[in-house]
Amino acid sequence: MHELSLIESMLSIIREEREKHCMKRILRVRVVNGALSGAVSDALSFGWECLTQEGDLQGVALDIVDAPLKVVCGSCGKPFTPEDAHYMPCPACGEILGHEIESGRELYIDEIEADIDDAESAAAAAPHTGD
Ligand SMILES: [Zn+2]
Repeated sequence: MHELSLIESMLSIIREEREKHCMKRILRVRVVNGALSGAVSDALSFGWECLTQEGDLQGVALDIVDAPLKVVCGSCGKPFTPEDAHYMPCPACGEILGHEIESGRELYIDEIEADIDDAESAAAAAPHTGD
């Protein structure tokens, strides 16, 4: 699965960032996935779950933001957001081919949310919610 290796490389980027910024514990990661990135959001979520089931990034939440495709008409220059990535008639002139893709190919980590302060003391002070 192609998405699994994408997640693997994201996890190594996240680990590097954690080192760089002395993050105590990573809580949540936001990833932007463009409509033409080639990665399926559901498969990314699944890959993430598999690879964060254990280890140092166990339980880190993943938010995927689906970024829409934006193109500029190759004939009249009108920017628009096609509904279908395979069939994109220009709303102004009807041209189907030759559009320039402005965005939608991207796949990147947008944000990493983490505890940077001394979270251990905060966690120790919090009452246990037991069963
Ligand atoms: Zn056009």
